[in-house]
Amino acid sequence: TTTSTPQSSGGDVRLHRISKTYGSFTAVHPLDLTIPAGSFFALLGASGCGKTTTLRMIAGLEEPTTGTVELAGQDVTALPPYKRQVNTVFQNYALFPHLDIYENVAFGLRRRGIKSVKKQVEEMLDLVQLGPMARRKPQQLSGGQQQRVAVARALINHPEVLLLDEPLGALDLKLRRQMQLELKRIQTEVGITFVHVTHDQEEAMTMADTVAVMNGGRVEQLGAPAELYENPATTFVANFLGTSNLIEAEVTEAGGTELVLTAGGATLRLPTLRCSTPARKGEKVLAGFRPEKVVLAHADDAAAIPEGHNRMAGRVKIASFIGVSTQYVVDVPGVGELSVYEQNIGRDGRLVPGADIVLHWEPEHTFGLDADQSLL
Ligand code: ATP
Repeated sequence: TTTSTPQSSGGDVRLHRISKTYGSFTAVHPLDLTIPAGSFFALLGASGCGKTTTLRMIAGLEEPTTGTVELAGQDVTALPPYKRQVNTVFQNYALFPHLDIYENVAFGLRRRGIKSVKKQVEEMLDLVQLGPMARRKPQQLSGGQQQRVAVARALINHPEVLLLDEPLGALDLKLRRQMQLELKRIQTEVGITFVHVTHDQEEAMTMADTVAVMNGGRVEQLGAPAELYENPATTFVANFLGTSNLIEAEVTEAGGTELVLTAGGATLRLPTLRCSTPARKGEKVLAGFRPEKVVLAHADDAAAIPEGHNRMAGRVKIASFIGVSTQYVVDVPGVGELSVYEQNIGRDGRLVPGADIVLHWEPEHTFGLDADQSLL
């Protein structure tokens, strides 16, 4: 029996040692990257890190300085954009203002001389849930609706790969969140490869199966969103993908399945596998943990903290109630300020600034990083 696999595709994207220099400036250092067919892939990074340049080299809009681009098993490096099985959705959508929505979506088919477009156009409008808007002009639609027209117009050409360059950048936050889920739904439905460029970590994590975090023209780390979040390999990735507590610590025991560290007089443990750098006794590493993994106990209740937890004593400095959670800034002597997020279930405002606390968390929720990195 066959399961209902999505339509398409041979849409693998393979970049071999691809790079781009402008004069003496290297925007993208030689990069090897394989994006499997049918995946939702995000290139994530701050402004200027080279993500758009990488996307444009896949599209054929930018000529690589070195290296090759392979699409669906074919070397397309020398092919112009229109001969590649890709379509790009840009941030400004680039819809035709004088054509209605129907004709905007039909455009790619008409240009190829296809006469009977009705069925395909209607299918596409259904896919993006804009059937009833077919006869409107782009300016009569909201930003999110225009965005969906742009996606429909690109998908009607049946590309193997859809490239999206900050496609939600012009939308307000709430609409952005809606469109993220919408694009994810569309991608799952059509099953082709989406390559999405964004500087918004939440957006990349919401939509993509695999995220490449770029920094200074290089991919610093590649992986599933949860993998990158739980196991960042560098301080840049740790900080770019959310708030992290990074503590300088000294290795006191190494060699087994568990590392033992000391920081600010406290003993911290973590699985050796979760340390991205070889750690030897006497050396420094950075110990990191996410704010939501930590629990705050009142100093008087410290006896109830489970055995084996990492723990540090401190004092609440700031407590901010933000609805679903309360975010604390805690001062730990000899270490500094740490962030703790607690879900607001069952406790309201028990901890106030000035309260003496012990923060504790499971050793498995600790990661280790090379200490010779700048703390961003
Ligand atoms: P943004 O989110 O701001 O678009 P990005 O990560 O997509 O940033 P790119 O547009 O890929 O970054 O640009 C990477 C670097 O290359 C930037 O420092 C940029 O200034 C530089 N760059 C891009 N195009 C050119 C060009 N035509 N000439 C010279 N430098 C360029």
